[in-house]
Amino acid sequence: MVKFVRCNALLSLAQDANGKGCRYVSKGASDDDVLKEMSGHINSVHKLDANDMKLNIMASIKTNNG
Ligand SMILES: [Zn+2]
Repeated sequence: MVKFVRCNALLSLAQDANGKGCRYVSKGASDDDVLKEMSGHINSVHKLDANDMKLNIMASIKTNNG
């Protein structure tokens, strides 16, 4: 069972380093793992404060049962 959250579910207009729509997906075994990874991505790639988005990220985490 994998938990994941898509960057473009949080930042719909986000662009990656190449100026294309960001397709980054953070995956992990727990909500905490996913949150930590996505926070690092948002901080470093999008230069935003992920602490402000914590609740948003948690609410957007989905579980893949496949
Ligand atoms: Zn992104």
